[in-house]
Amino acid sequence: MKHRVVILGAGFGGLELATVLSEALAADVDVTLIDKSDAFVFGYSKLDVMFGRTTLDAVRLAYRDISKSGVRFLQETVTEIDPEARRVTTDGGVHEADSLVVALGADYDLDATPGLVEGGNEFYSVAGAAQLGEVLRTFSKGRAIVGVCGAPFKCPPAPSECALLLHDYLSARGVRDDCEISFVIPFGTPVPPSPDTSRALVSAFAEREIEFVAGRRVSSLDPARRVAVLDDGNEMPYDLFLGVPKHRAPDVVVASGMTEDGYVPVSPETLQTRFPGVHAIGDVATLGVPKAGVFAEGAARVVAASLIAGIRGGEQPASYDGRGSCYIEFGAGRVGRVDVDFLSGPKPTGTYHEPSAALVAEKRQFGSSRRSRWFNR
Ligand SMILES: Cc1cc2nc3c(=O)[nH]c(=O)nc-3n(C[C@H](O)[C@H](O)[C@H](O)COP(=O)(O)OP(=O)(O)OC[C@H]3O[C@@H](n4cnc5c(N)ncnc54)[C@H](O)[C@@H]3O)c2cc1C
Repeated sequence: MKHRVVILGAGFGGLELATVLSEALAADVDVTLIDKSDAFVFGYSKLDVMFGRTTLDAVRLAYRDISKSGVRFLQETVTEIDPEARRVTTDGGVHEADSLVVALGADYDLDATPGLVEGGNEFYSVAGAAQLGEVLRTFSKGRAIVGVCGAPFKCPPAPSECALLLHDYLSARGVRDDCEISFVIPFGTPVPPSPDTSRALVSAFAEREIEFVAGRRVSSLDPARRVAVLDDGNEMPYDLFLGVPKHRAPDVVVASGMTEDGYVPVSPETLQTRFPGVHAIGDVATLGVPKAGVFAEGAARVVAASLIAGIRGGEQPASYDGRGSCYIEFGAGRVGRVDVDFLSGPKPTGTYHEPSAALVAEKRQFGSSRRSRWFNR
């Protein structure tokens, strides 16, 4: 019988893992890739949709287009995970695995920030970003706050990008002078591992008169008074709130008993959980790296290499290196990059590459290469 790999979640991590396994083992593996959605959307596309740079239809990559030897995609919702038995229950049936990989990402806990649902908006889900795009069209006066409601959160540079792109959006509509933009983030700097990147972002905020409030988290909103309450008790009035909601592991993962302190602990070298034959990759895992697609992808490659070595025989792969590059939109069509290394030294480090035309092209290539690799498009 072929080795049965069940991958839960077809995001950055799950898609890359299924692709590498298919390329290396097509005839010798039976991969089941499960996701509740019908399409994948790149995280950064949410900003593009929100600011009217593209449409939702244009950025949705339908899972029905996945055509990989040895891989079967199922659109089902995972309702129960038994990591000891490596058995998964979904709304479509029960799936038994020889190797189980949990790649279910991070969910949003909107209720953790009182007032957010009634009086604010979030731009971290596809639906939230699309809806905020509608709200933005009618915003032409007053104070907008881009506010982070909890850490860790996905793609640490994304809220900075949101503030800068909001400046562009309001300028293009000719209403920037009637609006204020404030940006609240719980870190001391926008991208803590890279002082150079942080300096460049802070000076971009200053040039655009974006108020930068560092080291503070938005703990609640009072919709009646239209104030955001920070974790030190200070209040900031707002007319429009663009929030990064508090994150948490999906409920089904928490209920499985795999989590500690909110996420799934794994070996940083192998991504192995404490359950034999069960790995966790990407945002759902606690690994000491940021929650970003590039890190989920890197982890997927290590797990793939380990499974391939196990099935074919051979050396186990080198440890996961915790390195990745993130592109950063500075506005006005400018794109920079930060290369971060989280695991090799005593402290994370980051190298800044200032915006250039080459990086605009590189970011485009980043998306198109994954699109063709994962979806043959
Ligand atoms: C605004 C924004 C901008 C970003 N920009 C970047 C960027 O430029 N570069 C970058 O590297 N990262 C970026 N990210 C972060 C990136 O999107 C995530 O970190 C990445 O998608 C994590 O990959 P993952 O595989 O762990 O989880 P995900 O990609 O989130 O995939 C998890 C999958 O699990 C599925 N799922 C969840 N629960 C269930 C269930 N019960 N049953 C079935 N399926 C389920 C979900 O539908 C989802 O498809 C950005 C994120 C945001 C919000």
